[in-house]
Parts: sequence; C-alpha cells; structure tokens
Amino acid sequence: MSVRRILVTAALPYANGHIHIGHLVEYIQTDIWVRFQKLRGHRCIYLCADDTHGTAIMIRARQEGRSETEVIGEMQLAHVRDFTGFDIEFDNYGSTNSDENRSLCAEIWQALRDADLVHQKQVTQLFDPVEGTFLADRFVRGTCPKCAAPEQYGDSCDACLANFSPTDLIDPRSTLSGATPEIRTADHLFVRIEHHHEFLEEWTQSGKHLQPEVANYLKGHFLCDELRDWDVSRPEPYFGFEIPDAPGHFWYVWFDAPIGYMASTRQWCQAHGEDFDTWWRDAETEVHHFIGKDITYFHTLFWPAMLKTAGFNLPTKVHIHGFLTVDGRKMSKSKGTLVQASTYLEHLNPDWLRYYYAAKLGPRLDDLDLNLDEFATKVNSDLVGKVVNLASRTARFMAGQQTAAAYPDDGGLFTNAAAAGDRIAAAYEACDFNSAMREVMALADAANRFVEDAAPWVLSKDPDREAELLDVCSIALNLFRQLAIYLAPVLPRLAEQTGELLNNPITDWDQAQVPLAGTPVAEFQHMMQRVDPKQVQAMIDDSKDAPELNSEPEVETPDPAPEPEAAAEETAVEDASAEASAEEADEAAEPVATCEAHQQEPLTTDTCSYDDFMKVDMRVCRITRASDVEGADKLLELVLDLGGDVQKTVFAGIKGTYQPEDLVDRLAVCCANLAPRKMRFGISESMVLAAGPGGEDIFLLAPDSGAVPGQRIH
Ligand SMILES: [Zn+2]
Repeated sequence: MSVRRILVTAALPYANGHIHIGHLVEYIQTDIWVRFQKLRGHRCIYLCADDTHGTAIMIRARQEGRSETEVIGEMQLAHVRDFTGFDIEFDNYGSTNSDENRSLCAEIWQALRDADLVHQKQVTQLFDPVEGTFLADRFVRGTCPKCAAPEQYGDSCDACLANFSPTDLIDPRSTLSGATPEIRTADHLFVRIEHHHEFLEEWTQSGKHLQPEVANYLKGHFLCDELRDWDVSRPEPYFGFEIPDAPGHFWYVWFDAPIGYMASTRQWCQAHGEDFDTWWRDAETEVHHFIGKDITYFHTLFWPAMLKTAGFNLPTKVHIHGFLTVDGRKMSKSKGTLVQASTYLEHLNPDWLRYYYAAKLGPRLDDLDLNLDEFATKVNSDLVGKVVNLASRTARFMAGQQTAAAYPDDGGLFTNAAAAGDRIAAAYEACDFNSAMREVMALADAANRFVEDAAPWVLSKDPDREAELLDVCSIALNLFRQLAIYLAPVLPRLAEQTGELLNNPITDWDQAQVPLAGTPVAEFQHMMQRVDPKQVQAMIDDSKDAPELNSEPEVETPDPAPEPEAAAEETAVEDASAEASAEEADEAAEPVATCEAHQQEPLTTDTCSYDDFMKVDMRVCRITRASDVEGADKLLELVLDLGGDVQKTVFAGIKGTYQPEDLVDRLAVCCANLAPRKMRFGISESMVLAAGPGGEDIFLLAPDSGAVPGQRIH
C-alpha cells in the first residue's frame, strides 16, 4: 500500500460561543477519520483554527469593554480545552486572526485582482447610528412586511416563512442598541464567481469530490443559473483584516475563514520544518474538508473558485454531515438538550459519545439523533458488555503470566476477524462508521459466544485444566485486542489501555492480522464504566442552568443559505406543536386504575412517536425448537424461524405456563431488531410477545392462521 499524503480540516468554530455536543459531531467524525488514516500508516494532518472575525465579535468586545483580541483569546483557550477533553487531536490549532492568515488572504486577493474578478458595487443596508455600524440581517428585528408578525429577523419571517430584505421590515430596530436603523449606501467589493461557472460545473458534477445529493443540490439551486457575484468586503468599522488596496474596507469573515485552513497549515509547517507548497500546491496531496450542511455553499462554490484562481490544490473531497437532534428534536436550552462540551465532560465519559456518534454516522447528510436512552443502552451493551467484558472476564486469570507460546486453535475466529479488517477499513475510509461499528460488534458477538462456551471461570477452578484455561484466555485476549485495534480510531484510550495490558502498543492497523503469542499480561486495570442514566439526567439538568449560548457564526450570505435536506424553520414549528400536544396529553391521561390489569401495570402516559413505534420491527415467527434450560426454573430456550435463513435464539420466561412440546411449530410474534441481551444462560437475541402479569398467567401472542414467518407486524 502506498503512503498517501492527506490534509484534513474541520470547519472553524466561531469565537463567539462555546463548543456544544452538536458541534462535536463534526470534530469527532473528523478525528476518527484522521486517526484511522494515521493508523493505516498514511501521512495525515488534522488542521483547524478559531474563526475570529466579524461584527459579532466586535460588538461583543464593545459590550464587555474589552479588546477583540482579548475576547477571542479567551474563547480559543476554552475551545482547545473542550476539544482536548474529547481526545480530538489537531496537528495544529490556529486562529484566523493571525499573520499567516493575513498574508495568505493578501496572496489570494491579489490573484483575484490579477484575474480581473473583483469589482465594486454599491450596497444599501441598514445602519445602526448609535453603534456606528452596518447591520447584518440577524442584528435587525421588526414586523414582517407580509404577515405583520412582530419580532422577526431581518431576512425572513418565522411565522409565514417569507424571505425579504431587512430594508422591507416594518418598524425595524437594531438588536445591538435598540436604535431605529437608517438606510445607508456603501461601496462593497464583489468577486465574479460566474467567471468560473464551467469549472465549477465540472468540479461539482464529476462524482469525485462531493456526495451525490450535494452535487444535485448545487446543480438544482445554483449552477442552473448565472452565479451571483459574491460580496467579500465590509466597510469600517469591522473586526477583520483591512484590504491592502482598498483602505477603509475589510475582508468579510467568510472570505478569510476558509483561508484559515491554509494559515493553520503554514503554522504547522513552520513548527515542523515542512514545505507549505507540498501540502497546498502538489497534486499528490489530498485535501479533505469536513463541514456541516449549512455551509455547503461556501465550501463547494466560492472556495474552489478562490483556490482555482490562486493556483492552490482543490479539495479532493468535501465531506458533509447533517445536524444533531436530541431525542428526535432540535437541541433546546429549555429542555437541557443543548449540552455544552464542558458540561458533558463534568458528567460523562467522552469515549461514550465518540462511540455513539461513530455508531450513528453514515456517509450521507442525514441528521443524526442522540437518543439519550439508546445512548446509555448502546454504550453499556456494546462497549462494556461486549468489548471490555471480553478482557475483564479473562485477563484476571492471566495476570503476571504470558499468553500461550503458540496461538491456540480457536476454530477460525481470529482468522475470520483478521479477514474482516479490509471491509472495516473500507467503511472507515468511506465515512460509513456505522457499518464499521456493526462489523466490529458482530466480531465481538462471536468472541463472546466463544468465551461463554469455554467458561474460563469454570476451568479456573480445576487445577488439571490449567493449560486449557491458558489457551482460552489467550484466544479471548487476542480477539479482544483485534477489536481494540479496529476501534482505535474511535476509542484511542481503549487502544492505549489494551497496549498496556498486553505489553504491545497499538500503532498500526495491520497488527490485527497477527495474534500475540507469549506476551506478558499485566494486571487488569479497569477500562470503562457503565453509563448510569442518573449521570445523563444530571447533565441535562445542569444544561438547563448553563449560561446562554451565542455561538451562531456570522452568516450574511448574498444568496439563500443552503439547506440540502431540511428546512430548519419547519422543524421548529413542528417542535412547538408536538410539545404542546404532549403536555396536554400528560394532563388528560392521568390514569384511574379501575381494572385489575391496569392496577398491575398502569397505562403508560408518555406517548411514543410514530417514528419510535416504527423502530420496533415485529415479525411473525415459527418456534422450531423449545427446550428446558438447565438450572433455570422459569426459562425455556426457544429457537425462532423468522423466514429465510434467519433464526434467533431466545430465553423466554414462560416455563410455568407452557411445556416445550406444546410450543414446537407454533407461530408467534417476536421483535426482530431487539438488541441481543446477555443472560446468565446465554445470549437472548429477541423476545416473543406475550400478555399477562407472569407466573401461570402468561398468554403467548399468535397471528391468525394464514400468516407466515417473516411477515412484519404493522
Ligand atoms: Zn410573516
């Protein structure tokens, strides 16, 4: 495999607010991808910086009576602290307010001038006479000119969803000073992007650089028309870089922000004796940007046009992800779901979120939902129950000893997991972390079945079976180590702990191909705690009390901001009504237990959404085998046929009512996508549905005759 040279960036966080769990989707996604590339032996650097310029910072500094550099310096420290807390490891973390950025902006600007792409036009905007500044759309509020709804922002109405210009607002007011804005005209500098239309058409539609839905979005919304000139300057006062050949004018924050990627590279090059042009002017170098879908427009049209003009490398790929929702809704301060990174870290382990996001992230732009219940169960069952347990249940028999001198026969488990390495790597490469995690957990299941069957805790009691115990534990620890290697991009701490446990640091993906033999096993150190839902609740409670966030980046686009998949306004409206009806339902449905069944099990008042309901995949199944479970007086072990070749083994607490021979060949209903649960007697892979309080009162559900195994229950 030839060594690739890969430069990776994540979008620059804005210096006006703290990092929250929504931002972390991207920084964790990117960090996983970078760590994966490094583990594969490629040269890969991860660059980022604070995005510091713009009106918002200027106003904030004024309000706080401090300089802008003081404000952005403090926020940069906070950002770096948060990222470090989540093991997000940048090779360089810079600032757009740096000398390197200023000189690169000047270089690109000169190239745009030389290509004759810059021209001057007059722009009419609202101006705050008290603050002495032009007002970006979001700094103006007033009455909607279409529907007369009060308190609307300068560019659109939340009530009727109309778009308009801030100069159309009725009774406009500056949110900075409360003053009535004046209409003023100023000169702005524009870049003629249309000049690059043909190039952008070719670049965006080549199928190489963008996800297909992004390419289609750009074609349908922008490239089908003449591209509008891009307004890249702001008149003073403005916090940013003054344009060298246009005194009194500053580069707009969105001009210098992406150039910050290059400035951060230059800082890294200077610190490491590297040549900048190797990274930005060499066709052999890959440039990968990771961004959220809200800034698609800047990164897929303006940015390639700027790079092309100035002769720098074009992005190899722009990887675009969706937004985070929590429990199916937009993050909300009042619900405590807008969780700051620092608040998370006070209560929960960062590895849990890294794994949960990895398990959810696919290659598309779909929004990602953090379901707090699922978060706890998934981490507990996958990481603690399946992965860490493998080591904790076997390493204790091996402390101070060496694993078997030759790797024992394991029935092909190690070879099988080694062969999965290429598939898992391909999934990481394609940002399909979800598939990668599923593959790894399937391997973990197989390893756990082996340990269950071999029962080292039984072997350890018999001195005559010491050699057998050594073999079993050597196999289990090697299978565990393979998982730790495959999970290393997601869980760097676990990889490190594994390296310490087996005296063999994890540094290379291919280590998963060769088992360790005769390696000393250290004393087992605790690796990961289970998630306690109480900790999650404490984090949510704290987030309700956290100070107001104000971290929206300044976006004053001359064109509508792209929303490839979803309209944020619609989500907000849906949310409000859903919330109201849920509260009404709570009051109305206070149950009065008048029947015995309700007394035994009160009706649930929490509604479940249609989507929640549809997550449960219930199927008709045929019970093909039923047997007693030795040592269990309530359980029967059932094998279910779900149609096709799908079989599931379950342990059902129905022995009091049903005899095994009564059950064979019966149709039943089971949940096909229930996460497997480890029970004392083995792993239960599903659940058959039954009614009744238990004991002898258990009534298995069965479909009417005619149903066949595999049919979904609706
Ligand atoms: Zn309106």
